[in-house]
Amino acid sequence: MRSLAVVDADAPVRRKPTATRSKKRARKKTATKKAARPKRRATKTVKATNKPASRAVRTQSTRPKKAAVVAAVKREPLGHLLVEHKLRDAGFRGVVSSDKSLLEEYATDESIFNIKPQIVLQPKDQRDIEIAVKTLGAETGRFPSLSLTPRAAGTGLSGGSLTDSVVLDIAAHLTGINEPVTKGDGTTITCEPGAMWRDVEAQLKTVDCYLPPFPASKDICTIGGAIANNAAGPDSLRHGHMADWVASLDVTFHDGKTYTVKPLSYKELRALTKKKHAYATIAKEVFDLIVKHEETVTKAKPKTAKNSAGYPLWDVVSPSVKAFKRGVGTFDLTRLISGSQGTIGVVVRATLRAQPIAHDTSLIVIPVFNLADASSVVVEALQYDPINVEIFDGLTYDLALKNPDFFKDRISRVRYYQTLLSMYTTYHVRYGRRTPDFTLLVTLDTRDMGVVREALAAIRESGGARARLITNDTEKEMFWQIRRASYTLSKLKDTSRRPAAFLEDMTVPPENLGQFFAAIKKLLKKYKIDAAVHGHGGNGHFHFYPLLDFTSPATPPLIEKMAEEFFTTAIKFQGNICGEHNDGIIRTPHLNKMFNKKTLDLFAAVEHIFDPQDIFNPGKKVNPRFDIKESVRKTN
Ligand SMILES: Cc1cc2nc3c(=O)[nH]c(=O)nc-3n(C[C@H](O)[C@H](O)[C@H](O)COP(=O)(O)OP(=O)(O)OC[C@H]3O[C@@H](n4cnc5c(N)ncnc54)[C@H](O)[C@@H]3O)c2cc1C
Repeated sequence: MRSLAVVDADAPVRRKPTATRSKKRARKKTATKKAARPKRRATKTVKATNKPASRAVRTQSTRPKKAAVVAAVKREPLGHLLVEHKLRDAGFRGVVSSDKSLLEEYATDESIFNIKPQIVLQPKDQRDIEIAVKTLGAETGRFPSLSLTPRAAGTGLSGGSLTDSVVLDIAAHLTGINEPVTKGDGTTITCEPGAMWRDVEAQLKTVDCYLPPFPASKDICTIGGAIANNAAGPDSLRHGHMADWVASLDVTFHDGKTYTVKPLSYKELRALTKKKHAYATIAKEVFDLIVKHEETVTKAKPKTAKNSAGYPLWDVVSPSVKAFKRGVGTFDLTRLISGSQGTIGVVVRATLRAQPIAHDTSLIVIPVFNLADASSVVVEALQYDPINVEIFDGLTYDLALKNPDFFKDRISRVRYYQTLLSMYTTYHVRYGRRTPDFTLLVTLDTRDMGVVREALAAIRESGGARARLITNDTEKEMFWQIRRASYTLSKLKDTSRRPAAFLEDMTVPPENLGQFFAAIKKLLKKYKIDAAVHGHGGNGHFHFYPLLDFTSPATPPLIEKMAEEFFTTAIKFQGNICGEHNDGIIRTPHLNKMFNKKTLDLFAAVEHIFDPQDIFNPGKKVNPRFDIKESVRKTN
């Protein structure tokens, strides 16, 4: 048995429990032993790249060997033990720990999985991250099971931050935030990746700005995690994903060096590719790949408004290769790094564009008592260019009514009582004690009150007969509080079960919502399962959280079966399976439902260009390697 002593003299930063982290120890051996399946590696990948033959051969020959050694390292984790010492020798200053209780803390995030790492690193700064990448890169030849998985606040829902090797906790120390900078072309803010979203938001508020793609988890997640997941939220209906707000990223690539990545003109790209370093090679190879496969890349772009699946090669060269070569548009690798879940490099600094806060807005609330009306109301609301169209279900509303204490810590004291009064009055008086199937929230600009009134009338006619314009601030707050709390509230439905995040990221075109909902309802009935539902109605994006008992041995196979059937249903209605929570462990094996083989090979080629030694977070986005059934958590 190897030593589990903390190698570093500094005490590690203990992770604060996220909303659902169980205090109980996860059952042993869940993942460390079993998740290390040999990877289906990139033999095919190479075919899609422009790599010279010699390199292709080298790549193919190392892959199977790597998978074979993974199993050996599991029995005798020499490589990991060695890395602890190598890191110190290289001058790593942060915490390097294999303390058992710390490893348990990092074995879960907000996903349905439990996978124990072998080492936790808490880098002090960028230099430590560079040392970690370089040191691991040098050892993967000898110990192919070594890898490095960045982790921030651990609120991800797809298992992106979980690993059976080395976890790199970015959020322990890299939390710096600069003051916002306002110039002629707008406001930007620069921060380290571990900065909490709420702290960056507070800084931006001082100049009356905000980051529009804010996720519902903005109070508990970091900027780096949001970039790496390409997060999105209510205002993404108008303002897009996180990637749309990135001005530049400092990224540590596989050579252990950090480069500033930002959109480049053709001239700048040509100048860069003449240089001799990792970033130059990556830029050249990705550009060549897109040039060679432009048609496949363009066709692969998902049709839904939101997408976090795969590597969005279609967003890198704009508007087209031909126009770009003529000097129009940009080549933008930040588009690939955003949403890459730490699989192609480590973000160590980000500069983000911010937007002035919209103060002059109107909220229309629509209780829908008949499921079929939800779709037509959403479609009608979209005619009026809303900032957001959000939705929560009757279960969420019921749980809010039954659990007033839930909101105590979330709202200031006086406001708390006013908000509760508003909630109960709405239910007892306005709704006649009947909970709506769904509540829709539609935010419009108030620039023209005539348009707002017109929208209200049209929504009423389209099935939202009881739609109302909310003018009272407390009532507004009440509805938004319930919407934002919907996931966490669903945990209170039955504490012997847990809302399971695996069907939670499907999106369909809004006009297909009615039929999609009906099909999902049928499936839930077939499986005899309750599910909390909320989401971003305007994007046709719904978070279904089935309530499951993770202590039951029947749950892991059920998850696999349901994922298969529900994801197929989303695709049937021209939808996708991954709107904003990213692929992680749960969706990577299902990407073949969204993308053809040629496209999947291109994704694998991209990952290989950025990460030739496969250091960064293997098994996510491409080459799935975690057995879903065996990696599922065993506690609620
Ligand atoms: C209650 C709740 C509500 C949520 N609502 C939303 C929502 O509305 N919209 C949404 O998009 N998501 C939502 N999420 C999911 C999640 O909170 C977000 O995606 C969040 O932005 C992840 O940030 P994090 O700091 O927790 O990252 P983590 O979970 O720690 O990491 C996420 C991924 O990023 C990678 N990563 C982290 N840091 C870096 C780095 N510096 N460099 C490279 N890779 C890195 C990790 O390896 C991992 O793959 C929600 C989650 C919860 C629990």
